[in-house]
Amino acid sequence: MASGPTRDLTTASGPSKIRKVDNPIELKSQSVEPFRSPDDWSDPASQESGSTMVPQDRSSSFVMVTCVCGRSLRAKSDQVDQEIRCWDCHQMVRVRDPHQAQKVARELSDSARNVINGPDLASVIVGSLIGTLLFCIPFFGVWCAAVAFALFSSTYGEIIHRTSHGSVRESGPGWIATLIPRSVVKFLLGTLMAVGTVLPIWYLNAAYHQSPHWDRIGLTIAFVTWVFIPLFMLIVFDRTDQKNPAAILSYVKIFVKHPLALILALAIVPVSLVVVELGWGLMFYLTGNLAFFSLEYMPTPLIVMGSNKYPAVMLSGIPYFQSSDYRTLPSSIFEMTYLENLRHGYSLVGAIPASLSMSTRNELNAADAIGIFEPFYLIIRLFFTLTTLIFLLTAFSIQARWLGLVLRFERPKIGGDASSVSPASTSLSPAFSTPPGSDS
Ligand SMILES: [Zn+2]
Repeated sequence: MASGPTRDLTTASGPSKIRKVDNPIELKSQSVEPFRSPDDWSDPASQESGSTMVPQDRSSSFVMVTCVCGRSLRAKSDQVDQEIRCWDCHQMVRVRDPHQAQKVARELSDSARNVINGPDLASVIVGSLIGTLLFCIPFFGVWCAAVAFALFSSTYGEIIHRTSHGSVRESGPGWIATLIPRSVVKFLLGTLMAVGTVLPIWYLNAAYHQSPHWDRIGLTIAFVTWVFIPLFMLIVFDRTDQKNPAAILSYVKIFVKHPLALILALAIVPVSLVVVELGWGLMFYLTGNLAFFSLEYMPTPLIVMGSNKYPAVMLSGIPYFQSSDYRTLPSSIFEMTYLENLRHGYSLVGAIPASLSMSTRNELNAADAIGIFEPFYLIIRLFFTLTTLIFLLTAFSIQARWLGLVLRFERPKIGGDASSVSPASTSLSPAFSTPPGSDS
């Protein structure tokens, strides 16, 4: 309701809109606060236009707030984040920047678009190609990918730093220098992030003929890795001098102040995995191959006999239940099994990349089952892995930018809260110019 009658004031861009007097809110608020002080009119646009009495852009000086009693109040823009008293019910009302949400949304979508359109996509694709090849290394593939992820996480930190300081330095440290963090804390956080990402998706509970799948431990690791470590990395990579412990509190205050932007930033990584999983699942379903992929990478369905359910048995890569050959069962059973196994923590996103290095699949004969011969089947699995990594790395790149943006929204205020992270002092020092170990 705040955007109803007050819209003319907050979005007015010309004198014609502002001079409207049929707006009851404007009349009321003018009786409370007739004019701005002349200092507020210094904006050159209003002087050029020749309108001296009516400011060109009121939205820059006044902020409309709605009290809990429903009364619209007008505050000066420099009262943002302070409290004013409602002249109707006399309660204190906090003044919020009406453009904050719009501004935040625009910045977030702009930076996400930059990742997808810009040169970053090339880096993401190259990184994903390298990751896919590493996954193919027998037995150690998953851990080789983890090392690559750890290196990538330094880039992640550098993106955070550049975004939060609003500096697009062409002459920053080279990417090779960026890949190797010169601080123990940064190195540890990057390694934890890589291991904490790889472990639950591609390693936990994996065994011969047993795809990796999520359990309570995996969920806990992923939760810590995808919620707390990004926040720690945000703080560590944003700061260049870390002597002031009070500054940590100012970060926490910012986190509390931008819950939505923060939740979006943290959610994008798990959401990207869900999108890949369901996207490929749907594609397999539409092409009639979901039953095969479900049987190949997930436990076989339970067969209901009376009131009991029995698991199937794998014999030479072909699932049997007692004397019943699964090939005689309708494929819809296996398609339902896919959804059922998703619920139990199994996923193709986890199983297929891991199957490149570990034999976590049931080694069904793809040529017999769906008419895909071995080399082409391998290409499908490689392409699946590549897609998964592209989505995941893109999500991490966007996340780094969004986290950095959360700080930049508040940049001037950080300087007020904690002198050690004032924009002036940090933007002058390049990201990795601090001596090794100075912040550990
Ligand atoms: Zn009120």
